[in-house]
Amino acid sequence: MNLMYSSTRDANIKVTASEAILKGLSDDGGLFVPEQIPTLSVSFAALAQMSYQEIAYEVMKLFLTDFTEQELKACIQAAYDSKFDTTQIAPIVCVDGAYYLELFHGATIAFKDMALSILPHLLTTAAKKNQVANEIVILTATSGDTGKAALAGFADVEGTKIIVFYPKNGVSPIQEKQMVTQKGENTFVAGIHGNFDQAQTGVKQMFADKQLGKELAEHGYQFSSANSINIGRLVPQIVYYVYVYAGLLAKGEIQDGESINVTVPTGNFGNILAAYYARQMGVPIAKLICASNENKVLYDFFTTGRYDKNREFVLTSSPSMDILISSNLERLIYRLAGNDAARNAAYMKQLVSDGVYEISEEMREGLKDFYGNYANEAETAETIKSLYEKTGYVLDTHTAVAASVYRKYQNQTGDQTKTVIVSTASPFKFTRSVMLAIDPSYGSKGDFELADELGRISGVQIPKAIEEIRTASVVHQTECDVSKMEDTVKAFLNMK
Ligand SMILES: *Cc1c(COP(=O)(O)O)cnc(C)c1O
Repeated sequence: MNLMYSSTRDANIKVTASEAILKGLSDDGGLFVPEQIPTLSVSFAALAQMSYQEIAYEVMKLFLTDFTEQELKACIQAAYDSKFDTTQIAPIVCVDGAYYLELFHGATIAFKDMALSILPHLLTTAAKKNQVANEIVILTATSGDTGKAALAGFADVEGTKIIVFYPKNGVSPIQEKQMVTQKGENTFVAGIHGNFDQAQTGVKQMFADKQLGKELAEHGYQFSSANSINIGRLVPQIVYYVYVYAGLLAKGEIQDGESINVTVPTGNFGNILAAYYARQMGVPIAKLICASNENKVLYDFFTTGRYDKNREFVLTSSPSMDILISSNLERLIYRLAGNDAARNAAYMKQLVSDGVYEISEEMREGLKDFYGNYANEAETAETIKSLYEKTGYVLDTHTAVAASVYRKYQNQTGDQTKTVIVSTASPFKFTRSVMLAIDPSYGSKGDFELADELGRISGVQIPKAIEEIRTASVVHQTECDVSKMEDTVKAFLNMK
């Protein structure tokens, strides 16, 4: 029997997994959620003997039930291959009494690769399954990381094209270079003369434009989204929580059945939600520690039950967590509301109209599995410096937020449960902030000089992703005004 997915805002909408992946978002604006969370069908003793790819199959087959074994295995093999710089895919490293799960060994050295390496294959398989004859055009606005990970994931994937809009003067030099040097006949990149919000708004308008949709169809195209609310991104993230537990068991670090904690640096709430689902599948996770930066809307929510986005947006050194609306939190709210779509929809409506909602006392009970806290900029930098000085291991800024919050948790609770800290980016991706945290005198050096210096002091080889852009030539030079985004799309697709 197929596991069906329903909308968090309308109980009457039910789709298969492949339909949910194709659609991304439900027509009512809700997110697709599995009607029940399946439990693992193999023992941890057996999982401990498996490779990342084998575990991925054991997990994903339970969620994507309308994919055949052959289809799913083909997607997994195409995704988790030599694009990753280690056959372990997600190494587990023990440093200073905590386990770091390194999710940054893919093509763009950030954890978004874990899901965006496989999403293109899930999407094209889903398209075939549902007799979609059109070519799929992925349309994305990015503030930096997602754009490159999506470009790398979709590059040269048959039956797809990908178009990325980024704010011309709103991303870091390394992030821009990563995007404009992207190879692949089917990749298109444009810098807009505006900010990220304008890029995002422009993309949303094109998705909603029925006339444009019709014109696309006439040319054999249809839009789709690689956004983190797509279950095709969420499900692959559940895999590494099963993998880390099996891995710790295989190494003899834990006993079978022993509980662990996980600490997750959080922005859009996708990663930690995957941990929450893994827990429901049977992974013995005690506490879900949710780490925020100075944009601490989730910390406030966990401590008060009130979600309030009406506040100043702070630019931090962990930009991928600079977010005031954590989209995936809606899936948790829906569950806390007893899977009541109408109740959840009312909260989400309030969020749009007032920027705030407050959950009931009874719903707050369900939050006791979570612990939320945050780290400010000084604490984040101090964590990078002190761990480096003590052990030689260098954290990126996002992971440092998590490590700092974990220390606060330990100090407050004395909890000695073994803990996994989810490491979401390579320090080489945020070299300047990382090196300045270690020694402010690095400020005068250029970005690639700093990468060389980081390689030297950490003894870690400079990732291929950095070496490649050092010398790569710029292949995308399109710029456009905000009002010309649609024309740019049409030009990319030769629709004129
Ligand atoms: C996207 C991102 C995050 C936040 O993950 P969510 O799933 O959005 O909570 C954390 N760290 C890095 C490096 C990221 O790119």
